[in-house]
Amino acid sequence: MQLFDSHAHLLDEKFTADFDEVMTNVNDHMALVMNVGCNLDDCRRTVRLAEQYDKIYAAVALHPNDANDFTDDLWQEICTLAAHDKVKAIGETGLDYYWDDAAPDVQKVLFIKHIDLARTLNKPLIIHDRDAHQDTIDLLKNQKAETIGGVFHSFSGSWEMAKIVLKMNFYISLSGPVTFKNANKLLEVAQNVPLDRLLIETDCPYMTPVPHRGKRNEPMYVRHIAEKIAELRGISPEEVAQATYENGKRLYRI
Ligand SMILES: [Zn+2]
Repeated sequence: MQLFDSHAHLLDEKFTADFDEVMTNVNDHMALVMNVGCNLDDCRRTVRLAEQYDKIYAAVALHPNDANDFTDDLWQEICTLAAHDKVKAIGETGLDYYWDDAAPDVQKVLFIKHIDLARTLNKPLIIHDRDAHQDTIDLLKNQKAETIGGVFHSFSGSWEMAKIVLKMNFYISLSGPVTFKNANKLLEVAQNVPLDRLLIETDCPYMTPVPHRGKRNEPMYVRHIAEKIAELRGISPEEVAQATYENGKRLYRI
């Protein structure tokens, strides 16, 4: 299967102990992995990782939960890293109202900076939206982000919301929760998103899909998400893998 994990955090400390083994699994089972940096150190190391491994590409940003860490110097370095050849997206950026690490207004200012950076560099956005659906959509619309495009990662909205996201020129990326028993509204999304606008991801080390739920997640488990979507749509897992692989390459311009 031609698997592209469109969103991973391989530099999380949960991978430290067996990093080489995880990378062997990537080499053996994966076509491509987009690794996402969330803070300055993570972004620096993500770019280095992408330089080391052919199959790894990078995205850089300051995560909305870390918005209070913003300084001009930090931002300057993120902008420099973002221009690197193997950095193919700006993210993850957006709004997170689940954790109250940073005030919504502080998150919004940072989000807009990332949108401007994506526009300047002509690279797509990776959107993090947790419990902030309406504000995320409103802000993207106000900033005319449809001219940039990108992906709503680990999408958690309804099919109604997905239609708005698709209209705004964004892709939908599904992760572990689509395999959970309580997936409910995500099943409708998985069935109805046009196959050429769908991505799959692990968001590892979190969001582990069934049948590994409860354990640490890793890129090769993205296969289970492809299988679940295939089952819901009545097509083969290979078909889902191939389509999402091509979509990822198109979106990230790989
Ligand atoms: Zn993430």
